[in-house]
Amino acid sequence: VCWSLSDKNVYDWSSEEEEPDGRARPVQVLLVKDDHTFELDEAALSRILLAEEVRDREVVAISVAGAFRKGKSFLMDFMLRYMYNHASETWLGDADAPLTGFSWRGGSERETTGIQIWSEVFLVDKPDGRKVAVLLMDTQGTFDSQSTLRDSATVFALSTMISSMQVYNISQNVQEDDLQHLQLFTEYGRLAMEETFLKPFQSMIFLVRDWSFPYEFPYGQEGGMKFLEKRLKISENQHEELQNVRKHIHSCFTNISCFLMPHPGLKVATNPLFDGRITEIDGDFLNNLKVLVPWLLSPRNIDVKEINGSKITCRGLVEYFKAYIKIYQG
Ligand code: GDP
Ligand code: MG
Repeated sequence: VCWSLSDKNVYDWSSEEEEPDGRARPVQVLLVKDDHTFELDEAALSRILLAEEVRDREVVAISVAGAFRKGKSFLMDFMLRYMYNHASETWLGDADAPLTGFSWRGGSERETTGIQIWSEVFLVDKPDGRKVAVLLMDTQGTFDSQSTLRDSATVFALSTMISSMQVYNISQNVQEDDLQHLQLFTEYGRLAMEETFLKPFQSMIFLVRDWSFPYEFPYGQEGGMKFLEKRLKISENQHEELQNVRKHIHSCFTNISCFLMPHPGLKVATNPLFDGRITEIDGDFLNNLKVLVPWLLSPRNIDVKEINGSKITCRGLVEYFKAYIKIYQG
C-alpha cells in the first residue's frame, strides 16, 4: 500500500490552532448555542482547509456522529493513531500509552452539540497515485428532547452533507428510533440540497457498539451486513411507516454498511481512572478495532467527497459548508 503523510503538520501553525506544545487538536467549527442558533467558525474552518498544502487537493471527509457518551471520540482517537502511524501494521502503537486526541471521558454530564474537526488534515497517497486530503470530524448531538432533537438533526444533516463517509455510532442495537432519527436527519439534509437524480449522500456506516449477540450475527462487517439487511428489509406486511423509513434510507445513500463491535470491557466503560491504554481493553474489542479502522481509513478504501457527481476539494468543501449553514440559519 502506498502511503505517505507529511512528517510535519500539513499547514502553517501561525494561528490559534496551535497548542502551546505545537500539536494538532480538535477545533470546534460548528456550535449549537443555548438559544438553538448555529455558529460556524469560518475563520477556523478556513485556516484548516485553505492551508496551501491542502486547499486544492480532493478531500475525503470522514464523520462520526451520534448521541453523547457512546464512545465516538474514543474511536476517533484510534483513527488518529492509524493516521499518525501511517497505516503501518503496528499502528495501534505502545500498549501502555494513554489515548489522546479528541477528548473522551466518562460521566454523564452534557457536552456541546456541534462539529469538531481535527486541526491537521492528512495527505494520503491512494494506490492509483492520487494524493488526497483526509479530514476527520467528530459530531455530537443530544437526542434527548424535542428542542435538542432539531439541533441534532441539523448537525447530523450538515455532517452528512459535507462528509464522504458518515459513521452512525449507536449503542447495542439498531432500534426503530435510530432509523427514525436517521430518516429525520437525512430529510433535513435533502431538503437543503439541490434536487438531482443522484443519491444525495455517499457512504453510511452503522457502527453498533457493545454488540452482544455474536452467536446470531458475528462481530465485524460481514455479520453487520447480514444483520443490517434483516433490519432494513422491506416487506409487504410491514406497517407503512416502517416501510417508508427503510425506503427513505435506501434512497439517500450510495453505500450502506454495518459493523458490529464487541464491548470494550468494564475498565473502559466504568473506571474513571482509565486513560485509554490498550492493556486495559478487552482483546475481542482490539481484534475488531484492528479490522474496523483500516476498513474505514486505508488508502485504498477512502473515497473522495462528491457533490452532484463532482469531486470536491478542501476549498470547495468550505464553500459548501458555508452555503449549507446559511440554509439552516435562514
Ligand atoms: P462520545 O461522547 O460519544 O464521544 O463518547 P466518549 O468517546 O467520550 O466515551 C464516553 C465513555 O464511554 C468513556 O468513559 C469511554 O471510556 C467509554 N467507551 C468508549 N468506547 C466504548 C464502547 O465501545 N462501549 C462502552 N460501553 N463504553 C465505551
Ligand atoms: Mg466525544
